[in-house]
Amino acid sequence: MADNLDPGARAAAEQKARKAARDAARKTEASGEPVGKKEIVPPWERGAEGIALVDTHAHIDGEDYADDREETLERAKKAGVVAVVTFGDTMEASARVVKMAASYENVFGGVGVHPENVFPFKKEDDDRLVAWTKEKKIVAVGEIGLDYYWEKDEEKRGLQRKMFIRQLALARELDLPVCIHDREAHGDLMTILKTEGRKNRGVIHCFSGSWEMAKELLKLGWYIGVDGPLTYKNAAKLPEIVAKAPADRLLVETDCPYLSPLPYRGKRNEPAYARITAEHAAEIRGESLEDFSAQTTKNACEIYKLQFN
Ligand SMILES: [Zn+2]
Repeated sequence: MADNLDPGARAAAEQKARKAARDAARKTEASGEPVGKKEIVPPWERGAEGIALVDTHAHIDGEDYADDREETLERAKKAGVVAVVTFGDTMEASARVVKMAASYENVFGGVGVHPENVFPFKKEDDDRLVAWTKEKKIVAVGEIGLDYYWEKDEEKRGLQRKMFIRQLALARELDLPVCIHDREAHGDLMTILKTEGRKNRGVIHCFSGSWEMAKELLKLGWYIGVDGPLTYKNAAKLPEIVAKAPADRLLVETDCPYLSPLPYRGKRNEPAYARITAEHAAEIRGESLEDFSAQTTKNACEIYKLQFN
């Protein structure tokens, strides 16, 4: 990295390189499980009568959907995914999310900086985030949080904590829910949520902790987001958590373009696949898909104050 760049430009260049490396790694990481040979009926061809799901965590602002963004949203609708909450993970992505929420029906947005992309905010960065939250259909601060899986450097983990705490404070001032990313940082996450974040509310998205941790979060008032990994053979603790969690605290999400459920693992994820995760979750809980989707959509509308047709 050239040293003659100013700190802001250097941070932006570093951020871009890290994001590219992470995206590449995630794609390889995701391709572990073979897709079965039996014929697959895509979720948008299964009929959607009586089903109204919300994909409560997506990233559909980016280049992955440059060629078929409208079709992607059409497929979601046909699969019974009637609304999408899409999240920014950088300042640039957050700016795109604001535009998307304003221009697409039933698309809502969250703005924030993901732990892997954090940089030392200046007042003007706070101001930009705050201004975005006043825009149409921006319903949350996110995606924010901690990621110690991709970040091993202690100093940078410190910066993650600092920026997480700062964005939690912004959300409190704005009286908005937050959407939290936590990967291999459970201890520090819980500490922060019990201290600085004790008056925040929101969702721990793509939950990867234990039932013990889930219980604690539920007691503190948090919602739990469930994604494609529920369908993986190595889903570990997630099915137990989905089975035991109170119905009024679960949310369905995709985290697309990452984390496709089976049998699409390793391929680009999209909001329509929230239907697959919902089918699995409903089965685990012994509920009909119709009931499960009605309940989780009610939850989504409560925490994110969504209003849609
Ligand atoms: Zn995400």
